[in-house]
Amino acid sequence: MEKRVFKREVSEVLRRIYFWDIFKYEDLCHHLEGKIINKHKGILGFCPFFGCGAGWYPLIIKTARFLEKLSKTFLIEVRCHQIKQKYGGLRIYFSTRKKDIFSVRKKGIFTPFFRLLKKVISVWQSTGEKKAFSATLLIEEESTRICEVCGEEGELCRTDTGWLITLCRECRKRMGAEKV
Ligand SMILES: [Zn+2]
Repeated sequence: MEKRVFKREVSEVLRRIYFWDIFKYEDLCHHLEGKIINKHKGILGFCPFFGCGAGWYPLIIKTARFLEKLSKTFLIEVRCHQIKQKYGGLRIYFSTRKKDIFSVRKKGIFTPFFRLLKKVISVWQSTGEKKAFSATLLIEEESTRICEVCGEEGELCRTDTGWLITLCRECRKRMGAEKV
């Protein structure tokens, strides 16, 4: 999805809908989620929904793009199975698997050379798996500075019901939350 189109869609929700109708905001989130999941099926196709606000969708897209590249380069499979908000920050849960590129067992292929090659590739794949985990940790850290509702610069707040959420100044005021 074009970044600009996405931004426009998100700001459309915020300008016109959110503060008057939370259900419409959720509808639009759901609509955007569908688009994002569809665009990054390989990575996000196993994630039933995003348990977070639209302000973090750009982070999710960034993660999906990165993991797509990583899986090609490092010959691994990556599947996100849960995306949610926890303690005011984004959480992306996923699993990785090394692609079995030697599944076709040709006669004589497992010579010492191929065993060595297989080992080298396995180490390479492990490097990719580690990179996937550290990248998502960075994204999760980044989310603690981005408003979950609208994507502007934000900080950790607490709503009057005690819910922790990262919000910008505007969203904080309108939601009646306070900085932590
Ligand atoms: Zn905001």
